[in-house]
Amino acid sequence: MEGERAPQQDDTGVDVQLSDGQSLRAEYLVGCDGGRSLVRKAAGIELPGWDPTISSLIAEVGMAEEPELEIRHDAIGVHALGKVEYEIHDGEVVYKDGGPGRVMVTEQHVGHTGEPTLRDLSEALIVVYGTDYGVHSATWISRFTDMTRQAAAYRHRRVLLAGDAAHVHAPDGGQGLNTGVQDAVNLGWKLAQVVKRTSPESLLDTYHAERHSVAARVLRNTMAAVALRRPDERTKPCATPWPSSSRWTSRANDSP
Ligand SMILES: Cc1cc2nc3c(=O)[nH]c(=O)nc-3n(C[C@H](O)[C@H](O)[C@H](O)COP(=O)(O)OP(=O)(O)OC[C@H]3O[C@@H](n4cnc5c(N)ncnc54)[C@H](O)[C@@H]3O)c2cc1C
Repeated sequence: MEGERAPQQDDTGVDVQLSDGQSLRAEYLVGCDGGRSLVRKAAGIELPGWDPTISSLIAEVGMAEEPELEIRHDAIGVHALGKVEYEIHDGEVVYKDGGPGRVMVTEQHVGHTGEPTLRDLSEALIVVYGTDYGVHSATWISRFTDMTRQAAAYRHRRVLLAGDAAHVHAPDGGQGLNTGVQDAVNLGWKLAQVVKRTSPESLLDTYHAERHSVAARVLRNTMAAVALRRPDERTKPCATPWPSSSRWTSRANDSP
């Protein structure tokens, strides 16, 4: 779809302009176009929620040096160095020699705009590790945050939203894709029924009613997960499992 020519809906359908100059008209349009959804914006659907507090880069890159492959927690956040190719032996990850590295590094500051670059990655690595390990030849670099927002409505007349277009949150727990697929499962058969005139159009309103509350719970859950991985001394014990000999019980017994 063309950014300048956002989808337009009227009483009988939706017009969409494609980047190759073609135009399409359909009875309904489902915006599955990710967190920055043009479809959502064109439909005037608000995305209320919370701004990011953490920003991370994730990338597949060549490295001139051989870093220690590890997960590190520090005052900035969580960072991880690994390899693209690995095998699992007896529950242990065994990285293959050579080949591109996979890097996840939390940035010192949030609020970057624009596409992430190799230079951004290099700078973030230097802040955390004191070196960028000679990163080069990135296959891809992506930035993600803990921005947590949800579309106020999953339907506006003939436009519907699914997936990240409807809900964005931190990746903790790996729930984003699953939630989006389940949106599509909920919506797909309803749209088919309505388009075939087997069911009334009001069936589409049950999509928001059923799926908005599910993603709202996912958003709360991921915000809690992010809060629990904050590196300050007061939060750390909350994220650490209690040992089996429960100190909690004995302390409770000690209390007056
Ligand atoms: C580090 C990380 C780890 C994750 N791990 C997991 C996990 O383990 N499990 C899980 O369930 N989820 C996980 N997620 C979340 C998951 O990746 C997303 O929720 C999912 O990819 C969203 O899918 P989507 O199709 O809704 O949106 P997207 O993947 O963003 O796809 C949107 C598509 O629309 C296209 N598009 C956008 N605008 C236009 C336009 N104007 N015209 C034409 N095309 C357009 C884009 O090019 C893109 O192809 C993770 C996310 C991150 C950042």
